[in-house]
Amino acid sequence: MATVSEEAVLGALRKVIDPARRDNIVGLGMVSGLVIKGGNVAFAIEVDPARGKALEPLRQEAERAVQALPGVTSATVVLTAHRAGPASQPRAAHPHPQQAPAKAPAPGIRAIIAVASGKGGVGKSTTAANIALGLAAEGASVGLLDADVYGPSMPRMMGVRGKPATHDGKTLEPMRNYGVAIMSMGFLVDEETPMIWRGPMVMSAIQQMLRDVNWGELDVLVVDMPPGTGDAQLTLAQQVPLAGAIIVSTPQDIALLDARKGLNMFRKVDVPVLGIVENMSYFACPHCGQRSEIFAHGGARKEAERLGVEFLGEIPLDIAIRETSDGGQPIVVSQPQSPHAQSYRAIARRLLEKLAPAGARRAPPKIVVQ
Ligand code: ADP
Repeated sequence: MATVSEEAVLGALRKVIDPARRDNIVGLGMVSGLVIKGGNVAFAIEVDPARGKALEPLRQEAERAVQALPGVTSATVVLTAHRAGPASQPRAAHPHPQQAPAKAPAPGIRAIIAVASGKGGVGKSTTAANIALGLAAEGASVGLLDADVYGPSMPRMMGVRGKPATHDGKTLEPMRNYGVAIMSMGFLVDEETPMIWRGPMVMSAIQQMLRDVNWGELDVLVVDMPPGTGDAQLTLAQQVPLAGAIIVSTPQDIALLDARKGLNMFRKVDVPVLGIVENMSYFACPHCGQRSEIFAHGGARKEAERLGVEFLGEIPLDIAIRETSDGGQPIVVSQPQSPHAQSYRAIARRLLEKLAPAGARRAPPKIVVQ
């Protein structure tokens, strides 16, 4: 099989013309971050964020041009713009004007971050709960919105029961435990009640939990998203004013494919992906303490690198994580000195850094993909 050379890729891309600027994308200096690994080619096209969606055909054309080269098995092209500030900066006008009002930031909440996964059962909720607790342990005021209306698990994971109170008949008080404000559909409907949700209902339930709950002043609201990348998730990503998203993935390739879908979903709607967390990364044996890497460990790190997304950390498959989160005492609060709790804390610290206000840190160039 022919090997793919940089020259060949750039040669193909010289035939891709940016119609507005009437020159090829290589000549215009728009191609960056070219990575060739075997037959896999990935690179970014740097664009003016204002041109956003209009350049999607150009992206596709570039992808097709590279894909057509002999030896290329996959071509991944992303549109990027270097943004000076952090995720919480004001965004460029949203391409869908009718959605603009819904994007207005929730009052009192400085940053809303989504915890998402390409599919169910990867430990998204466990990760969301422990990250929320990690953020609180780092001194942030934190809320946790369980948007996983299909299977709300936060009441159980966060060890909270009962019904939220209302003082004015209009807004609900969030439930609280371990210093975190929590709202979940699980508080509002009986656990036994089967819930059948269609897309629009999911969105209105989530909007209500966002707007009609007295969250107060929060540094961060962590949203545990419904698993998957269907319409409900896309609408949520579009309409909730997210400062960023975290993708939780297991190392199995199949899950990584799903994770990529999640990544693309957020990129499509201009939500910065803050990073990937690899969950069930390796197996920590409770008897001998040894690590066994039953699923090709490290896949998510490699994938993150390839896609230009930060790798936020890896959490092993450990019975202690399951027992504590299923028992309502997530490991960050019940075993704060354990290495796993420390890993969640490190992820939380990194997130706070990434969400820090402009000027509070030296912002690395931010990749924004539209
Ligand atoms: P999701 O939200 O992706 O559906 P959950 O967070 O509900 O997944 O996790 C599914 C199950 O896996 C739960 O029983 C949870 O306790 C367990 N689990 C999640 N992460 C880990 C881990 N790192 N080690 C051991 N068990 C885990």
